[in-house]
Amino acid sequence: MKPSIVVYRDVPDDLLARLSAECDVHRVREIDPDIDPSVKPLLAQADAILGSGGNIDARFLAMAPKLRVASTITVGYDNFDVTALSEHNVVLMHTPDVLTETVADATMALVLATARRMIISSERVKRGEWTQSITPDWYGCDVHHKTMGIVGMGRIGDALARRAHCGFGMNILYHARSRHEKTENAYQAQYRSLDALLSESDFVCITLPLTKETHHLFSREQFEKMKRSAILVNIGRGAVIDETALAQALADNTILAAGLDVFEQEPLSPDSPLLSLPNVVLMPHIGSATHETRYAMAACAVDNVIRALNRDVSQNCVNPQALQH
Ligand code: NAP
Repeated sequence: MKPSIVVYRDVPDDLLARLSAECDVHRVREIDPDIDPSVKPLLAQADAILGSGGNIDARFLAMAPKLRVASTITVGYDNFDVTALSEHNVVLMHTPDVLTETVADATMALVLATARRMIISSERVKRGEWTQSITPDWYGCDVHHKTMGIVGMGRIGDALARRAHCGFGMNILYHARSRHEKTENAYQAQYRSLDALLSESDFVCITLPLTKETHHLFSREQFEKMKRSAILVNIGRGAVIDETALAQALADNTILAAGLDVFEQEPLSPDSPLLSLPNVVLMPHIGSATHETRYAMAACAVDNVIRALNRDVSQNCVNPQALQH
């Protein structure tokens, strides 16, 4: 008998066909039984799940007693309780590498759009305000040859450092849990404590995962350590920043501006104070959202689940030890 899999995000037809050759596929719109109770009997029989989002914790796992593999179409996995998964002998597969370059492009785009005030300028042109030569109130600030501080120097941080240093002649500072000598040598990147990075950087770019340690790592205290001319860009996860404190810091010009792809609550609440600020660029979590990369991520997630169901967790597995139980 084929293993049973619940697929809870859109997957291209050819990839679904590849999955169907190996598994009994059950497609649902929603993985949370509290939102759609009809998923409950499918979870009771599921050997695997594949999708993105949802809150996969001990309570969820209790509803899926046969589950062996969870395959997320993301590299970040903060919505999974990895300890609970391992205790239930469920391996978690994710999609690193295939999205790295695309997310680094999006981060650089946010740096440029925020510094050069591209979105607000476009809105002004569309409103018919470009009626004579522009005046200094349209000006932005330079990016090239400035100092970029990258917080989190993993796959995406390294790809961002390459763009910023090799393409824009930027001076690179970084902060992570460990030293990254390859990046230091390739892009003359210098390690800093978080406080030193904040005080020296013109651009502070967050490429961190969300964990207990990084939750609200950026709050009022950190914004006050930054230059008043600094721009903050977050492509990691929204809750790394205390968003209320950020809105306040932007409103009272503690920092110059921010470019954000991720938020504490997604989609962003209509009540968010960020919506009314002129010095913030807001993107709807589009870091990896190109046709090519979203296809590559789905293909990676499908390959991951097929391999893991065959007990191969040699690649892209967050908790390979779960197999040993
Ligand atoms: P990665 O290779 O695992 O890199 C993560 C980096 O964060 C590492 O350098 C790590 O330090 C550092 N780090 C983790 N905890 C830290 C802490 N407490 N203090 C300081 N540094 C810490 O991950 P990645 O592939 O670059 O992806 C990073 C994150 O980007 C993902 O987890 C996801 O949340 C986010 N993301 C967002 C989008 C989007 O669409 N906006 C798309 C993809 C990914 P060490 O190197 O010292 O271990």
